Order: sequence, then structure tokens, then C-alpha cells
Amino acid sequence: MAMAAAAAVTVPLGVLLRREVTSERMERPDVLCGEAARSRKGEDFTLLRTEAGERVAGDPSTSFSVFALFDGHNGSGAAMYAKKNLLNNLLRAIPSGLSREEWLAVLPRALVAAFVKTDKDFQAVAETSGTTVTFVIIDEWVVTVASVGDSRCILESADGSVYNLSADHRFDSNQDEVQRVTACGSKVGKLNLVGGPEVGPLRCWPGGLCLSRSIGDMDVGECIIPVPHVKQVKLSNAGGRIIIASDGVWDDLSFEMALECSRGFPSDIAANRIVNEAIQPRGLRDDTTCIVVDILPPEKLAPSPPTKRQGKIAFKFRRKHPDVSFKLDREYAEPDEVEEIFEDGSALLSKRLAAGYALQSMFEPLSCAVCQVQLKAGQGISVHSNPLQHEKLLGWQGPFLCQSCNEKKDAMEGKRPPRGIANSLCYLVSLDNIVRLLICSLILI
Ligand SMILES: [Zn+2]
Repeated sequence: MAMAAAAAVTVPLGVLLRREVTSERMERPDVLCGEAARSRKGEDFTLLRTEAGERVAGDPSTSFSVFALFDGHNGSGAAMYAKKNLLNNLLRAIPSGLSREEWLAVLPRALVAAFVKTDKDFQAVAETSGTTVTFVIIDEWVVTVASVGDSRCILESADGSVYNLSADHRFDSNQDEVQRVTACGSKVGKLNLVGGPEVGPLRCWPGGLCLSRSIGDMDVGECIIPVPHVKQVKLSNAGGRIIIASDGVWDDLSFEMALECSRGFPSDIAANRIVNEAIQPRGLRDDTTCIVVDILPPEKLAPSPPTKRQGKIAFKFRRKHPDVSFKLDREYAEPDEVEEIFEDGSALLSKRLAAGYALQSMFEPLSCAVCQVQLKAGQGISVHSNPLQHEKLLGWQGPFLCQSCNEKKDAMEGKRPPRGIANSLCYLVSLDNIVRLLICSLILI
């Protein structure tokens, strides 16, 4: 029986949720959090909201939690801006009146929209700093993580299994991103001292940033994109522990070391132990920040240490479910496993904004899918349109973008010059037009 259940059967979100409302209903977990930080540059910021909002306005039983870490670079402007605006931009990108199943299914797409809008709005502020973002939403037992940059988020389930919930967007560890950024028109290479060897990590040029995705960094170019990697999992009712930490922690601690030094302690003490463990060998070399979140069965106030696994950590899920479906399967996994519901790290908005469950009813038909601005009839540009081909699209062509967000999309995909360069060209064209007008005026005279 066990073998039959494990044989490549997907577990749609609908099945998982239906299980909750039928005979296997699980109570809402207790969510406890703690954080610790040691600052060197003052560019790490956190957001800890155990009640960040309600899926159904006015109904506290539908509240969800948000925990986020912003690790800024070249200043703290982008990190502070993202901390202030990202959650609001996310909530604005989620249509009202959705069922819980629809709300969870639309979250990955809404996160993409919110990250891109926050980046685009911050560019208008014209500051040149940037930030990583690791953004975690906990709705009952479902955990959704959106990430850009190299801060990391891991989950240890109650049975001691470890799951990596974030992406690593350092060029050094992500060959796919090196290829994407190179194809987009930027160069990726190490710092080359005149007459000397190449040194340091792989970086994007111009700019010298060693990350391929971030919010901000307008001086580096549009190939460094804010489109997040998103992963969504569902815990069993035994719960688990989430650790979110900046590279100040992960540069000195492996996932196993972080778990080892904090296992069995309450979340606030655990966060402190991880930060102390990270800075103990070499001292404080970078901003070092850690958030620990315990998702516990109700009224279980402290986590019991999970059984320690022997040997190396295996980062694997019971099964991957690449595409969320609303069909209800008859077969599904045993309920004590962490189930992967969704994962996508594609850089293409045409894929991310329409991913898998592009139900037309989930979009406001007359608003931009990224910035939510109202569109007049015929004003929206299909996210599937290709400026180089102008092909005729069949059926529903949405979701739609406003002119400004469509320009942002094309620039991120290397199809148009970045905004700064485009403005310069517009300026040149304007000068050219002025010269023509002057010549025409002279001829007429
Ligand atoms: Zn827009």
C-alpha cells in the first residue's frame, strides 16, 4: 500500500485543503517567532507580523502571518523601502472574495506582481541601493516563500527532515542565472585587476553586483530582476521550524550547523544561538540577522527537538507537484509528510503571471496585473505579446499590463533598453525633432 501511495501521485492543493475540512480536519497551528541581529553596516531589516492580515476581512479566524528579511547593499534605502511597501503591494495584488483554496493558489502570482511593482516604484525614487528579500507567508499549515538574492530560508519538519525553501541568486552558485543575465546583454565575470589574476566572486558588469536578482540596484541595469523564486509547501499537523537568515549567517554556518546549535530551544533563544554561532569563529564581518519561526500544534508552547537525522541532510520533498490544479485526486500522500504544492523560479512574467492556474476570474479584468492601475478598454497590453512579432493571440489574451509595466517587462527580458537609457534616447529624439523644426522654420522664412 505504501509503495502504491508513493508512486508519483501528485497532491493537488484542493486535495490537501479538502482533507482539512473533512474527516482529517486540522486545527490552526500556533505560530511563535523570535529574531536576533548583530549589525555592522545597518543594512539588514526584518518584518515580523504574526497577524499580518485576514483572508476574509473582519474574520480573525482567517488571519495569516508574514515574516521577512531584507538584506540591503550599497545603502539601506531599498531594504527600508521594501520593508515598508512590499506587504501592501502584495495585498493589493490579491483579488477580494476568493475562497481559501483560490487565495493560496493566487499567492505565488501576487508575490511576483508585488516584487516587480516594489522594484519599479523604488526606481522612481532614484536611489541606487539594492536589497535581497526573503518573504514568508504562513496561512495555517501552508507556507509560501518568495525570495530574491542570497538570504536563505530552511524548514525542519517535526521528524527532522530539512527542506530548502529559498533560491540562491549568487552568480557563483547559479549557472542558469549566469546564462540568463548574459543573454539579457550584461557581462558576468570576476574582478580583473590590471595585469593580475581574476579575484573574488562572479559579478555582473557594469555595476559589479554578485547577485542576479534583487529589489533596487537601478544602476546595475534591468537584467538584475526582482522576479522572485516562489515555493509553497504544506506541513503536517506535527508542525516544524523555519529559519530565515542573511548571508552573514550562511557564510559561516551550514544549514546543519544552524539547526544543530538551536534545536530544542524556543524561537527567540534559537535565533540568538544561531547568530552567536555564526560570528563566534571570525567575529562580526557583516550584518548578521536570523528569524526563527515555530509552527506548532495548538497549545504546544515549545518545540520538542526533532529526531536528529544521521549523515548528510537530504533536500528532497516527498514529491514535486509542478502545477497547481483544482481537480481533486482520489489518491494522495500520507498526511504526516511535508507536501510541495508549488515551485517556480522562471524570470519570465508571461509565465509567472499566468502560471498554471490563470483563471480569468482571478484577475481584475480592467487593471494592470503588476501595478493594479485601472486600464481603459483596449488600453491593456497582453503579457503574452511579443514586441518583435506582433502575432495575433487567440482566446483570452490576459493578464494585461499597463504601458509602463510592459516597458519594465521588456527591459527585464532584454528586449528594450533599460529605462535610463530609454529616457536618454527619448531626449536625443526630442533634440533631433527640435533641430528639424528649426531647419523647417528657417526654410519657411
Ligand atoms: Zn502597471
